Amino acid sequence: MTGMLYVIGLGPGDAALITPEASAALTRCTDVFGYFPYVARVPDHAGLTRHASDNREELARARAALDCAASGGRVAVVSGGDPGVFAMASAVFEAVESGPVEWRALDIHVLPGISAMLAAAARIGAPLGHDFAVVSLSDNLKPWTVVLNRLRAAASAGFALALYNPISRARPWQFGAALTALLEVLPPETPVIFASAVTRPDERIEILTLANAAAAPERADMRTLVIIGTAETRRIKRGEGLRDWVYAPRATGALPA
Ligand code: SAH
Repeated sequence: MTGMLYVIGLGPGDAALITPEASAALTRCTDVFGYFPYVARVPDHAGLTRHASDNREELARARAALDCAASGGRVAVVSGGDPGVFAMASAVFEAVESGPVEWRALDIHVLPGISAMLAAAARIGAPLGHDFAVVSLSDNLKPWTVVLNRLRAAASAGFALALYNPISRARPWQFGAALTALLEVLPPETPVIFASAVTRPDERIEILTLANAAAAPERADMRTLVIIGTAETRRIKRGEGLRDWVYAPRATGALPA
């Protein structure tokens, strides 16, 4: 008998932002696989076995989960945010493609979640309200020159940017280098948002200019989602004690009437 595999997004952190569909699937699972902080966010129920593993073991984790489903388990693989955004869904399908042919017949469902960029953008207004590009700054799986080329190309073409994985202990200088490269193609006053731990108790959100951000990249950490505006991004000043709104206007080349 074969089981089921759900690839589930847990949202950015607040339990209220897990979808009802994801919650219902989790209550039916016998086994949950994932990076240990995400596995810890899954509510307990009788008969649930947790298989927590380290960050860099995505393919091995995906294979273990598929193996478990192939032998009859009702399996969840969990990611933060959305499972299809720099997360486990790609690893699962890589494992399916390179694995035993029986895995192709498995019943696999990817259940979407609220990605960090959407939660961060919602906090600040609508900075991703029109064309935007999404880039992970991690150069673990792609060369750094590819990252820089994609950033320059997207910013030059007028896309706002949502940047995941800006900085980590193993990648201390790349984010600063990325911001310096963007200063070559964007005005220094372009709005930049550092949104950290969004929807968690220690959430911190800062609105900077690109020039300020390039001078202080260490203000971001591995729990920060970075949004870079365009030359057209608007910032509405609200006065003392109130966070400004940042939004993408609906039309190119137009200021609000
Ligand atoms: N699948 C996830 C992204 C995983 S990559 C999603 O869709 O959100 C991990 C990166 O996501 C982090 O380095 C950070 O850039 C971002 N991130 C995840 N949760 C976040 C949160 N609550 N607040 C801000 N950034 C977050």
